[in-house]
Amino acid sequence: MSAPSTPVMRPWFGDEETAAVAEVLASGWVAQGPRVAAFEAAFAERVGARHAIAVSSCTAGLHLALEAAGIGPGDEVVVPSLSFIATANAVRHVGARPVFADVDPVSQNLTAATVAAVWTPSTTAVLVVHQAGMPADLDQLAEYCGRRGLLLVEDAACALGSSYRETPIGGHGRTAVFSFHPRKVITTGEGGMITTDDPVMATRLDRLRQHGMSVSAAARHASAQPVIEQYLEVGYNFRLSDLQAAVGLVQLGRLDAIVERRRHLAQRYRDRLTALDCVAVPGDPDYGRTNFQGFIVELGPGFATGRNEVLGVLAAAGISARRGIMAIHREPAYRDHGHGPLPVTEHLSDQTLILPIFHQLDETEVDRIAEVVINAAHGRQRIAA
Ligand SMILES: *Cc1c(COP(=O)(O)O)cnc(C)c1O
Repeated sequence: MSAPSTPVMRPWFGDEETAAVAEVLASGWVAQGPRVAAFEAAFAERVGARHAIAVSSCTAGLHLALEAAGIGPGDEVVVPSLSFIATANAVRHVGARPVFADVDPVSQNLTAATVAAVWTPSTTAVLVVHQAGMPADLDQLAEYCGRRGLLLVEDAACALGSSYRETPIGGHGRTAVFSFHPRKVITTGEGGMITTDDPVMATRLDRLRQHGMSVSAAARHASAQPVIEQYLEVGYNFRLSDLQAAVGLVQLGRLDAIVERRRHLAQRYRDRLTALDCVAVPGDPDYGRTNFQGFIVELGPGFATGRNEVLGVLAAAGISARRGIMAIHREPAYRDHGHGPLPVTEHLSDQTLILPIFHQLDETEVDRIAEVVINAAHGRQRIAA
């Protein structure tokens, strides 16, 4: 059997990325330096944040954001179980305890009610995820956190280009962390960005990502006088390189086109699948816009084929789909961790799948994928021999 021909996701690169990397190589400065600074400035402007701090991954950024806010041993941090495992791992990395909350069945995100259900006197923070780019209801969560005196941090790994009440995700003043892994809307291979409006937080994040150093290597290099750096605290090497940032700058310039294309393809899927009432498809919530980083469909009770079988049918047709978002509490790494009832999370994790959506996907392929799903819904699939 031949390999699937349509991937679930593919990055969009052009000659500009190649040229940008070649320029960095020719400059002789490849670690964190002027390109990282330029990428940070462009990113902050794009989302409307005062500060942006580039890091080696979103996971590293979440770790730093929690540590810089003083979260550590003894603290409980509410997270969704319905997320990529890094959301919970980052809480563990700072020695705090992730507490799994259930999610809204439509947005697949935390709400004030699901957070309130697991709150304890040890709760000090909420790590809200904008799952697959779908914005969470930030005002509602911020109101709850304000009332309880909790820190609210955004795992915006998938949400670059999404917005909440007309303002881009990352531009709401609090700390938000983005990913540039190839599964996200723009990529630098690996990489992440933290945004914040708080200058004290920004300075601390900048220091923690580079070994706790008082002055960056690039600043020392640029100075005509010898500069002796100091190490003010125990930090990390969570830096992004100038090679990656050069790619990121070009990719950021493509963001509007990428999001526009995804919204167009998502609408095509919605139009094709609209006749199937046994399938729920994603769309914008009334308070914001999603970037359709993922196109997650939920199979309802009338769907004639099981979720895993549908993945097999799609694979046989040369289409690489994926199960929906994982439930972290079911993974071996969290088996003994403990959790309350998570019925919506478990239902969504079992009954959803992610269809291919990426910039170069064409409309006729969307139509073909939708047809395979429709046939499976009616139990008409044929599995190729
Ligand atoms: C991808 C992802 C991460 C991890 O991002 P990395 O840059 O790979 O560390 C964290 N949280 C969520 C919700 C993600 O989707």
